[in-house]
Parts: sequence; C-alpha cells; structure tokens
Amino acid sequence: MAEPLFRTPKGTHDVLPEDHQYMTYIKKAVRHRCRQAGYKRIDTPMYEYRGVFERGIGEHTDIVEKELFLVAGSKKDGSEPSDLALRPEFTAGICRSYVEHGMQQLPQPVELYAIGQCFRYDRPQKGRYRQFHQFDLEIIGLKDPSLDAQLIHVVTNILEDVKILDRLTLQLNNIGTPENRKAYVEGLRDFFTGKEHRLPEEDRGRLATNPLRILDSKNEDTQILLKAAPTLDFYLSEESKQYHATLKEYLDAFGVRYVENPKLVRGLDYYTQTVFEFWDQSTGAQNAVGGGGRYDGLIELLGGKPTPGVGFAGGLERMIWHMKEAGVQVPHKDHVDVFVAQLGPEAKKQCLTLISELRELGVHTIGALGEASLKSQMRLADKFEARYTLLLGKMEVKEGTIILRDMKAGKQKQIKYGQAIPQVTKLLGETNLDTYVLKDQMGDVDED
Ligand code: AMP
Repeated sequence: MAEPLFRTPKGTHDVLPEDHQYMTYIKKAVRHRCRQAGYKRIDTPMYEYRGVFERGIGEHTDIVEKELFLVAGSKKDGSEPSDLALRPEFTAGICRSYVEHGMQQLPQPVELYAIGQCFRYDRPQKGRYRQFHQFDLEIIGLKDPSLDAQLIHVVTNILEDVKILDRLTLQLNNIGTPENRKAYVEGLRDFFTGKEHRLPEEDRGRLATNPLRILDSKNEDTQILLKAAPTLDFYLSEESKQYHATLKEYLDAFGVRYVENPKLVRGLDYYTQTVFEFWDQSTGAQNAVGGGGRYDGLIELLGGKPTPGVGFAGGLERMIWHMKEAGVQVPHKDHVDVFVAQLGPEAKKQCLTLISELRELGVHTIGALGEASLKSQMRLADKFEARYTLLLGKMEVKEGTIILRDMKAGKQKQIKYGQAIPQVTKLLGETNLDTYVLKDQMGDVDED
C-alpha cells in the first residue's frame, strides 16, 4: 500500500467501526445505569475560557500547567488572540454550567452525566492520548457520604456491566477539608526544610507551588524521603474521619469492595474529603481506568454560592483496552441481513424501492447496485456476510419474480416478487427486525 499523505495527528486516533462497537456498548451501560439512578445528560462545549480550568482544576496541577490544550486565535490572521482551551475533563465545565444556568434553583442534588472527548497536551504513550473519551458523573448541591457511596456504586455497576470490574481495584482515601490539607501542607514543608537538595528539581518546584503533588512523584529519591514524611491521615479532623468511616459503611452496604490508600491524593486541586480511583490490578496507579472525588469548594471558585459536589470520570479507551484483554465479546447490530443484487436498468430501479421498503421494516439491507456481473455481486454478498441475497435479473423483472438465496445453506428459490418482503421478514423473525427507533420513540435513541 502506498504511504498515506496524511495520518492522524500525534496523540489522536480514529475510532474505527470495530472499536465503536465497544464504545457504543460502554455508552449504553453508562446511559442505562445513569438513567436508573436519576442522572440527566448534559453536554458542555469542547472548549471553555481557560480560566474555568485554571481556577477550577488549579494552576499548579499537571493538567493545567503542562497539559492544557490551548485553542489558537479564532482568526487565522492572529488578530483575535484566544483565551480558550479544550476541555481536559468535564467537571469544571459542568460546574460552570451549573452556576451559569442557576441550577441551584432546581431540586438538589442535581445529578448530571456526560460522555465525550477530552483533550490533554500530554506526551502520548500507551493509554495516554491527546484526544480521548471520558464518561463523567456528577452529583451537585448536597453533601452526604451516602451520595459519594451511591455515585461509586453506579460506577461499579457500569464497570461490572462491561465486564471489567474484576480486573480493577477501587482505591479509596479521604484527603480532608481544605483546612486539614493546609495544616498537612505546612507539615510537609517543615519536613522537607533542609532536605530540598535531596529532591529532584521538579519536586523542589512542587514543594514551592503545590507540595501535595510530591506524594505523586515518580522519583525514587523523593519516594524514599516520603517514607519518613508525615502522612495526611494524621492531620484529618474528626469530621473528615467520621465522614470517611460512614462512607465505608455505606459502600459495604452496597457490597462495593475497596482498598484503603492513604497515599491517594489525585492530581487536581479541587478535591476535598473523598477521593478514589479504579486501578488496574496488575499495573496499579499507572493507567487508572477512572477516578473522582468530592469537590466542595469548586463551585464557589467558579463564582457560585458555596455548593458541594462529588464526581467521577472514566476513560473509554482504557476501558476498551481492558475489555479486549478480558476477551469480552460485545453484541452489536452491524450484521447484514439482505444483500440486493440486480442486473439491468429496470431491475436496478425496482431494487431501489425494494431496498427502501426492507430498511423501513428494520431489515439491514445493502444494495451495492453497481454494474458488476451477478456472479461478482454474489461474491460481494458473501464478503459482506449477508444472510440472504435477493436477486433481480432481467428475466425476473419480466416474469414478476425474484430469487431468494440463503447464503449459508447455499440454496435458492424463485418466488413471486411480492413475496420477497414477507418471506425475508418471516425468515429473519419479527423480533430480529431492527425497528428500535420506531418502537421506542420515547426512549433513548441517541447513540452518540
Ligand atoms: P483523571 O481525572 O485525570 O484521573 O482522568 C480520569 C480518567 O480519564 C483516567 O483514569 C483515564 O481513564 C482517562 N484519561 C485521562 N487522561 C487520559 C489520556 N491522556 N488518554 C487517555 N485516557 C485518559
């Protein structure tokens, strides 16, 4: 094959039909579980004023400092400089929307979910892309450990539905109130005073701007030093401890299994109290499938009244990877029921009506109505793995008949043209007809 002139940009990928089957399956599980739990779907723009992310997520976080995907000026000549950035995640944009649309007037809590693309200008590697898909759940407006537990329970149901929950462990921690964290940060700073020279440059920078991020450091020297450093649990208030204990009781009540991880802080500034991540059992923190937590200060940072919230985001690409690894077969509806073959201008015209009527009835029909010989059309029908072929040649048009061929059995018969549709629908079976959209006008027909 010739070298293509263009390829996808670095860190992006096409979602080809085969992967879309996985994606659709995941999205269905998400929509179904969210609907069951009263979540409503929201879409926010793919880009926002960068302040939404800078304020919300925090200026000294990896996502904002290193990975924010800035949108170039909207005018090609550069006359309009841009202060926009592609969304690296959903939570900040959804909270912006909550404030903008006065959702605090709605009955609380407001439960929202979203599915779509996110962008991070990171160095691409396995499981880490510049454009990827997330699903996201948020419960805003009320604070109670039972809400954290319910949100986590919905997520575990989704992961169970797509058959990857048993490959993951839920890591759980409570990082306390902002006051607890402030005291802890002081403690960490004190501990590292005089030891700065033993830290790599990056972590020395973190010590100055966002010491909590030192806990996430991949550097071995830092990790050795951290073994003797104070831990966050020592700084937690009674309230935080109680909150965490109650959450664990509720998770137990749901039968959700978790591992306590006092080192888990998550890389975003807006978290308070509960944080959690779903880790790959074999690789641990690297390439987590999803994570979330409570963000009681975020809405206020974005200009709203103090409003609590808890949320989760999962990565679809990483979920698909796990599904494939686990050998999960996804049911799909992309099979071809009928291939329509024809010969001659009259037959071709007649086939157009036939194709349209079959499709209307929910029969997956392909009409590659070219000028090829009947023999090569039959070969094509085979390649499409069609179950039946309807064949209309010049003779059949004249006689008012049509040939119906069962591709698997390799048998065919000539029938009256008017019998084609009733016979095909009977053979396929009423329940196998794809009339989903027609039957379910009120239901969720959005496949996106
Ligand atoms: P985070 O809030 O950063 O933990 O992201 C939540 C989830 O989104 C992660 O657990 C991943 O599954 C997914 N994710 C985040 N960043 C990327 C990326 N660059 N490429 C692919 N998936 C990602």
